[in-house]
Amino acid sequence: MSVHAKRRLALESVLETAGHDAALITQRANIRYLSGFTGSSGALLIARSGASTLLTDFRYDEQANDEVQGPTRICITRGVWMATLPDVIGEQTRSVVFESDHLTVADHKRLVEAIPDVDCAPITDLVGGLRRSKDATEIEAIERAVSVAEEALERTLAAIDWHDRPTERRVAGLLESELRQGGSETLPFEVIAAGGPRTALPHATPTDRCIEAGDLVLLDFGARVDGYCSDITRTFVVGTPEYWQATIHRQVLEAQTLGRAAVTSGAACRDVDAVTRGVLVRHEVDRYFGHSTGHGIGLEVHEGPSLSSKSEDTLVPGNVVTLEPGVYLPNQGGVRIEDDVLVGEEGPRTLTNLPRELIQL
Ligand code: ZN
Ligand code: ZN
Repeated sequence: MSVHAKRRLALESVLETAGHDAALITQRANIRYLSGFTGSSGALLIARSGASTLLTDFRYDEQANDEVQGPTRICITRGVWMATLPDVIGEQTRSVVFESDHLTVADHKRLVEAIPDVDCAPITDLVGGLRRSKDATEIEAIERAVSVAEEALERTLAAIDWHDRPTERRVAGLLESELRQGGSETLPFEVIAAGGPRTALPHATPTDRCIEAGDLVLLDFGARVDGYCSDITRTFVVGTPEYWQATIHRQVLEAQTLGRAAVTSGAACRDVDAVTRGVLVRHEVDRYFGHSTGHGIGLEVHEGPSLSSKSEDTLVPGNVVTLEPGVYLPNQGGVRIEDDVLVGEEGPRTLTNLPRELIQL
């Protein structure tokens, strides 16, 4: 049985429990996870009986036939995939769940018009629960995505003369190009490259600001291999760090190191967040840490489980999460250190290998 068939089997038992006849999967990463299809338009219909059909249009005919294995049927249309739904849904189907987070209002209207006799019920996070726990092949892909990203960073750092005042945009562009040339598929997200006071913006977009001597430099970047993402942040300083820069870096590193150690099977995600936050509370800088401690990575760069104070999730072996506390002093500068960590049977395994100390450029 193929890996995709095994995953569909798991989904079928979720449908069985929920009492629905079929699921209409419209989120791209979920379609890929359950069928192997990587095209950007289409849907996957999975019946409780085990039958599955990929609906897509003629642009993806060849690709779908290459990527999708039987017994999944492939249904190609000239127009929108939704039009073929009545033909493939099967007469015995009384209820279908759809991914309410991943269906536009217009498509929802088309859906209920296409199959008026079928009860269409919204559902959230139908596949996310299955995707959280990665198998060996998925973990290996993430590890390769980590390697591609780390090697790209090393080449970028070596290629730039930091005392020549490069712009943030140039640094980001070079790193993006190294990521692609090093083997990354479409980047999981646009590289964040910020210098000086702009490092205080957790999601800064690169500008034409020149990076000056004495600046903190924050780089947040990742690669994608076989669909799987890595997500890494490192913070550097151009020249000798000032006292406050070295101090917040040390505080963030302490929070991040303890946080990584807390990523164990059975741990409540909110407790991991409390560990990193607790260190920053002790140093009285927690008010400068506005986001959550981390998030799952996989086919998407942000997926479950969430390491936040509100999370209801518990870590299980096979989860791969980021650990990324930060301290951002407004108009002054910020530090974030982000690593990718696997929840292993025998404890946490950090997949990222780049040094974490404050490196002077
Ligand atoms: Zn990141
Ligand atoms: Zn992240």
